[in-house]
Amino acid sequence: RASALGEIQEKRRQLPIFSVRDNLMRLIRENAVVVIVGETGSGKTTQLAQYIYEETRGSPRGMIGCTQPRRVAAVSVAQRVADEMCVKLGRNVGYTIRFEDETSAETRIKFMTDGILLRETLTDPELDKYSYVIMDEAHERSLNTDILFGVLRDIVKRRMDLRVVVTSATLDAHKFSAFFGMCPIFHIPGRTHPVDTFFSRTLPHDYAEAAVRQVMQIHVQAPVPGDILVFMTGQEDIEAVCGTLAERMMLLESPPPMLILPIYSQLQADLQAKIFEPPPEGSRKVIVATNIAETSLTVDGIQYVIDSGYCKMKTYNAKVGMDMLLLCPISQASAQQRAGRAGRTGPGKCYRLYTELAYTEELHVGSVPEIQRTSLSHIVLLLKSLGISDLMSFSFMDSPPSENVAKSMLDLWTLSALDDEGRITDTGRMMVAFPLDPPLSAMLLSGAKLGCASEMLTIVAMLSVPTIFLRPRGAEQQSDAAREKFLVAESDHLTFLHVYERWRSMSRTSAAGVSTCDSAAWCRQHFINAKSMQRAAEVRRQLQDILAQLGLACASCGANWELVRRSVCEAYFWQAARRRNLVEYTSLRSNFPCCVHPGSALANSGYLPDYLVYHELIMTQKEYMSVCTQVDPAWLVEYGARFYSFRDSTRSLRPSDAGARSGVDLVAQDGA
Ligand code: ADP
Ligand code: MG
Repeated sequence: RASALGEIQEKRRQLPIFSVRDNLMRLIRENAVVVIVGETGSGKTTQLAQYIYEETRGSPRGMIGCTQPRRVAAVSVAQRVADEMCVKLGRNVGYTIRFEDETSAETRIKFMTDGILLRETLTDPELDKYSYVIMDEAHERSLNTDILFGVLRDIVKRRMDLRVVVTSATLDAHKFSAFFGMCPIFHIPGRTHPVDTFFSRTLPHDYAEAAVRQVMQIHVQAPVPGDILVFMTGQEDIEAVCGTLAERMMLLESPPPMLILPIYSQLQADLQAKIFEPPPEGSRKVIVATNIAETSLTVDGIQYVIDSGYCKMKTYNAKVGMDMLLLCPISQASAQQRAGRAGRTGPGKCYRLYTELAYTEELHVGSVPEIQRTSLSHIVLLLKSLGISDLMSFSFMDSPPSENVAKSMLDLWTLSALDDEGRITDTGRMMVAFPLDPPLSAMLLSGAKLGCASEMLTIVAMLSVPTIFLRPRGAEQQSDAAREKFLVAESDHLTFLHVYERWRSMSRTSAAGVSTCDSAAWCRQHFINAKSMQRAAEVRRQLQDILAQLGLACASCGANWELVRRSVCEAYFWQAARRRNLVEYTSLRSNFPCCVHPGSALANSGYLPDYLVYHELIMTQKEYMSVCTQVDPAWLVEYGARFYSFRDSTRSLRPSDAGARSGVDLVAQDGA
């Protein structure tokens, strides 16, 4: 152990940031805001907080807060820093992400998502807890980071004792500096090796298959070591590539061993950590990652990068009126970052699975900041509750399109979170108390009103955790059969409730809740994700606390599940659809055709009701409604009348627009 520690300390000293430590710390001491630019892997994320901690002799007056745009990074980096400091995670060094708090009274260095720090400004508007705030990975330009920029700029004007450090892995620093009144920019000298880049001659039909072939070719031709990093877009294509690679390896005769490691945000934390472990002697590590490996996490020893050219991006879809994760081409800046991952330890190679022409002609030079491409509902509500009534006067680094702001205000008005003048209502204030998207908060508030808050807490918690039903490769039939027993034909929301209640009642005997051992066995038997269930219980507990703080009752409706469906309808009436034929539905809101997702309880029970509301849309070849619940059209009239008639009057629908009349008919019924 002592030698492992010595090794870690030696590694710390070799990082590029170490050689400039004194100058950097002086700059931070002397300036309220400093922007730091350095290559990925130069040591910004893991070292800065430690330097400040050491500089203040382990007792900064307030905490050192360090924000990350991604949950995975916040957890992984906190763990790494705790290891480097030789302390147990959660003591001096901790992290907070939504629904998960690994900090204590002792915590001096706190890693967190940018969303967490933003929420903290609700209760601590001056961020008095902190002496230092490091806004890490600012180049990612996540929505929350962008809002924090505006909020922090005001706070540093008032708090002379606060130090803000902004870090970036790219050269866009002058923009950050200008935003903070031309604050100093510090460059960490880079130490990178040349990377040869190769383009595809033609655009592959299937980038996942192309990636697999490229990995196999490198593995067969190039000597071990020399690890490979493959950039895919999300859990699905990552698992597919990992699975196919394992199959192809079996076809080869005595190849060198290959360690295949996926990494994406929903992956279990212990599996995530594996990417940092060195591979066994004589074998090659292949990491298949989302763009989390672009700048957030640095893995050493990568010699080859394979770049699919795509990523999943949250994008506002005007047609359906909500955010969707869409497959998008990356920007040229991202492509360069990805390639750079191959040149950290020595000269490397990058294989781009797209043509040079596509790179120069089709890829944008830089990425569009999230604030300009996503819906802003929860941010608008948050800013309103911070007392920023005129959003257009807020200091944005890049302003959101005004029609997005208007659209978000309309959404919030629909949920009664804003009044007709655009002011935040009491309902809106209660919604902000929950760390949830406004419609999910609306569901809890409706449950409290209708007397089924307990059930709604469970449903919202289940919607907030990763996959509940497991479908392991090779056991598809067994897992499908196991799942069928839980399905509630008319509702996916109720199906979640059903699973949770069965899980809870399975071992009521132990007073401390579900004993993990019984729980794990039960979950295995039913192909249910035990980790997700435990998380759901934890999330539920936290939401219940908030409900209690708001003074709302947490009643249960027992077996009266119609009340639960009503509650779902009251919060989601604006995402309603009416059946059009045997398989298809029409959205009442925007009139587009859509289908029930094949994974839904409704689809699997063969029960397609006339009206339903859905939690979200998933776009593949078709538009699929995922997580659906049958509703009574009378409820839609009751809860949605204002919305549908409002939309009708503003859009002046033509009488020939038959589908759209469905919404109008509904309202007319109400009038009659
Ligand atoms: P930057 O933020 O400048 O991109 P980091 O501080 O994230 O740099 O990384 C510095 C070094 O620490 C890298 O060489 C990286 O490989 C190493 N490192 C970071 N996290 C871990 C981890 N969990 N395990 C092992 N090494 C890590
Ligand atoms: Mg970093």
